[in-house]
Amino acid sequence: MGFSRLFGRRPARIQGIAAALVAAAGVLMAAAPPASAQRNTGGYTRDGSQYGRTQRVYEAGKFDYYVMSLSWSPSYCASARDTRDPQCNGTGGRPFSFVLHGVWPQFEKGWPQDCQSPDKGFVPRPVANRMLDIMPSDKLVFHEYRKHGTCSGLGVDGYFDMARSLYNKVKVPPRFAAITDPRTFVSTPELMAEFLAANPGMKADGIAVQCGGSGPRLQEVRICFDKGGNFRSCGRNENQSRMCSSQQVYMPPVRAGGRNDAPAIGQKI
Ligand code: AMP
Repeated sequence: MGFSRLFGRRPARIQGIAAALVAAAGVLMAAAPPASAQRNTGGYTRDGSQYGRTQRVYEAGKFDYYVMSLSWSPSYCASARDTRDPQCNGTGGRPFSFVLHGVWPQFEKGWPQDCQSPDKGFVPRPVANRMLDIMPSDKLVFHEYRKHGTCSGLGVDGYFDMARSLYNKVKVPPRFAAITDPRTFVSTPELMAEFLAANPGMKADGIAVQCGGSGPRLQEVRICFDKGGNFRSCGRNENQSRMCSSQQVYMPPVRAGGRNDAPAIGQKI
């Protein structure tokens, strides 16, 4: 539908205002190119009929901030299906508590993923090996770079160097690394308050908690950073009420491996 068709019968002053609005929208759209486009990933079935599917294609380096996800390894291991994961089967060399899940480029609302990257998301083995001390699963290292790291625009070495430097900026309150009591329930607001107390500069709305499964178990603590690596408030993606609305979370104990099922609140073990 053309401009004159839309506004043709309006008085001249309204036409003038409308023209200015349309022109301004044009300038805004030109100034802020979309960070994603559509890619057709459809094809043909065996009988020759076409099927259509579109997938967003995101541009590396175009995002607003980072969220770092720290996974509570004992919760992951409580439901992990891969019995060969050294983090969970006792062969990892040490008990794991919070481990680095990943660092995810974010838009203020939504996030890019699987960005186009010259390395096609490939992680050389030596790069994966040097991350295993804080990301104790090579599958996770490969997955995180392909899905999120490619969107950082930093390349594989740059992404994992940045991830390690953000990880080193966060001090995990020591009592969490030492949880051995299988009946530990923690208040979600207290858990966040302890992180805030241990990390001057961390924003009260720059941390969020994810929970799930029986308990519900603590799954992740997410912490937001600006692109320069400073603590910042999170965007709408980490809206706490949508992530974990429980006032209490179960923290399975840190131990060398095995499954940890949540006792009912107050249950004696
Ligand atoms: P993402 O797609 O970045 O949200 O990551 C989700 C994947 O991370 C899932 O396959 C999870 O099983 C995996 N994951 C989460 N925590 C851990 C962990 N501690 N160790 C290994 N994999 C994990």
